[in-house]
Amino acid sequence: SASILWFRRDLRLRDHPALLAAAADGPVLPLFVLDPALWGTSGDVRRAFLLRTLRALDADLRRFGPGLVVRSGRPESVVPALVAEVAAQAVHVSADFGPYGAARDARVEEALGDVPLVRTGSPYAVAPGRVLTNDGRPYQVFTPFHRAWVDHGWRAPAESDPASVDWVGAPSEDLPAEPDVSGVDLPEAGEAAALARWTAWRGTPYDDVRDRPDLDATSRLSPDLRWGTIHPRTVLADLDARNPHAATFRKELAWREFYAHVLHHWPSSAREYFRPELRGLPYVTGAELEHRLDAWTQGRTGYPIVDAGMRQLLAEGWMHNRVRMIVASFLVKDLHVEWQHGARHFMRHLVDGDLASNQHNWQWVAGCGTDAAPYFRIFNPTTQGKKFDPDGGYVRRWVPELTDPSVGTYPEPIVDHAEQRAATLEAYQLLRRHG
Ligand code: FAD
Repeated sequence: SASILWFRRDLRLRDHPALLAAAADGPVLPLFVLDPALWGTSGDVRRAFLLRTLRALDADLRRFGPGLVVRSGRPESVVPALVAEVAAQAVHVSADFGPYGAARDARVEEALGDVPLVRTGSPYAVAPGRVLTNDGRPYQVFTPFHRAWVDHGWRAPAESDPASVDWVGAPSEDLPAEPDVSGVDLPEAGEAAALARWTAWRGTPYDDVRDRPDLDATSRLSPDLRWGTIHPRTVLADLDARNPHAATFRKELAWREFYAHVLHHWPSSAREYFRPELRGLPYVTGAELEHRLDAWTQGRTGYPIVDAGMRQLLAEGWMHNRVRMIVASFLVKDLHVEWQHGARHFMRHLVDGDLASNQHNWQWVAGCGTDAAPYFRIFNPTTQGKKFDPDGGYVRRWVPELTDPSVGTYPEPIVDHAEQRAATLEAYQLLRRHG
């Protein structure tokens, strides 16, 4: 009888260890479950990108068999029901290490009873939990983790071959209609597009230009890594020979692995302060919180680099890393809004929105995460703009009314940076003195 291959964050067919494992058992039924708990927290752009990725996966599968089976509902009901329907002998997955995914899989495993849930591979080069200190404890700081991660090493890409799999089907629901995202510039979705993106980019310079949002010189691979249309091992395997800045790029991939590792060992850090000392800082609430969040989310703070970034997020479901740091710092240290509000907005809209990378980068900027930037280091949005967008190309692209008033009036600064910086430092000193 068939095995079910339940796709989640691994929406590809190449370099897919769980597909190899499923195919070794006989015929394979490809499944995606539209889980209302995850669907409900996504914004339109993120939903549209996921739907396009699923359509691309379905089209790839149809070259070799009957295509993707889609079912919607709670996985602990839907997966066992399909197992019963087709008398499946096993359910194969890539392991999920996020707090929601791990708990969901435990529920599904229990509901499956005697039918095994087989976990093979993960969305990482090295699965969270593998890299530990000599005395078996998890690293809390990036640099020693990175060294140990490189020493640990990773496997070569898995040689999964969809053409040699005996694919089987079952009745499928239609995917939901795509939300209207006309005017939004989304990258092409799917495995072929991800591989094309990577091969087109992999030889280009990175070190000196990666901090420049106006040059847009980074790989733009984050949505592909998020949804698993490419595996990091595929990238690592052909990185060294191809990219003059391989070591820097590999280190960025290691940050992604590090944050997954931290979230795995400290699951509550998705919501809670990793370093709780800063929990006592004063933050705005009520109507003032709403007012500030509105201005920030709509890109109307009166600080051009902040507004440019926030508008890019809504328009593309993506924002350049340097600008993510600037807008996050501005929200927390200039607008005195607690980091979780910003993190939630990012997760709704980012097509690469990933709980581990998002929450921990937010905590890093807020000064309460691993390797936290010292709390007193406060980004100045004006000098950051001058330094990293020296000709103003990025800002002009997203805030056209700055140079063309016929487009609209640009708001006055919502707060004065120098005043807010002083207030933040004072609050920090008070907290340090009195706890
Ligand atoms: P490149 O520079 O080409 O980097 C290659 C890959 O390395 C990225 O695709 C990503 O997988 C990884 N990477 C690079 N920088 C980081 C980093 N700081 N932390 C973790 N992984 C990294 N990244 C996400 O993938 N999802 C998120 O939800 C997310 N939220 C963020 C929130 C904030 C406040 C900040 C400051 C950063 C966040 N990042 C997040 C990290 C980073 O901004 C993006 O990974 C990067 O901008 C993606 O663009 P790229 O693929 O062109 O990056």
